[in-house]
Amino acid sequence: MPSKNFVLGIFGGGQLGKLLAIAAKRLKIKTYIYTNSIDSPAIYYADDFIIGSYLDKKKLNLFIKKISIITFEFENIPFSILKNLEKNIPIFPKPEILKTLQNRISEKVFLNNIGVKTTEFKKLERNKLKSLDNNFFPILAKTINLGYDGKGQTFFKNKSEIIKYKFPNDQYILEKIVNLTKEISVVIVAYKNKIFAYEPIENLHSEQILRQSISPARINRNINEEAKTIAIRIAKRLNYRGVMCVEYFLKKNGDLLVNEIAPRVHNSGHLTLESYNVSQFESHIRSVCNLQSIQPKKIMNAIMKNALGKNIYKFIERKSYNKEFFYDYGKMHVKEKRKLGHLTKVF
Ligand code: AMP
Repeated sequence: MPSKNFVLGIFGGGQLGKLLAIAAKRLKIKTYIYTNSIDSPAIYYADDFIIGSYLDKKKLNLFIKKISIITFEFENIPFSILKNLEKNIPIFPKPEILKTLQNRISEKVFLNNIGVKTTEFKKLERNKLKSLDNNFFPILAKTINLGYDGKGQTFFKNKSEIIKYKFPNDQYILEKIVNLTKEISVVIVAYKNKIFAYEPIENLHSEQILRQSISPARINRNINEEAKTIAIRIAKRLNYRGVMCVEYFLKKNGDLLVNEIAPRVHNSGHLTLESYNVSQFESHIRSVCNLQSIQPKKIMNAIMKNALGKNIYKFIERKSYNKEFFYDYGKMHVKEKRKLGHLTKVF
């Protein structure tokens, strides 16, 4: 059990940080949020917060003086900053893991090296576009770093399209489009000596943004087991601590390819709040704070829908029904496709 003076520092103040802070409070763990934006719903739920750039050494020093360990709700904090902070304070998951996963190429190389399949990919070389194989197309070009929700992604049907395109630099990965039948994800929680997997979740995207998650995923037993086994294997190989989410593409022939790994709690795991004995948020707090482990058990089936942009008003005005749980994240600005809330229905 952490001491009375234990404070959990969290980088990031979005909805994931908010739901982590709420879970921490229930476990009597104090939280301190570091965020770079005033529009950060998490700050109202933490015991304290600081607003500053992730590069502001003075503020970062103030922050680490008041906390016992650091975790984060998003993975794009500069590695050099975390590596420096780690000299003085424990960080979970480890910055080295983040470094591997922040970069779409090193992430795939790591996965392939441990025998996990990914999409076919190549690093962009602008002066070698003509030598690309026609069979490699159609493809998506994605920024190697910092992409999320389809941001920084461009679709190319064939070679002549990409040859005409003006890339600003070579910091892109080219990924063959997978003819997928389903997308699923597996949330795992890694404690010091144990790893547990939540049941696979089925994810429906449009325009590269998650719209709906369904638990359990409608897949056969073999694929269900394989998805959990791969996710646990990845966590073991990373020597992971905390909650992590592995996103997969399922092909028609049953092949599971890892699309990406989120080293944090994940949007598809929101439905664990109502449909499990322990949510992904509580699991994360328990594991990084070294509390008693709890094995996740599904107690209900669930569907979660994201409220994006102006759609949030429809969710707010909607009559509420039995067994439905609506979350308004309380963000100040309504922007197109911004994740502003979600609704979970259990059954
Ligand atoms: P990402 O940001 O890489 O997770 O991509 C967001 C979404 O875009 C995925 O969840 C898929 O729906 C779609 N997508 C990304 N990459 C591919 C791909 N190589 N083949 C097919 N669909 C993809």
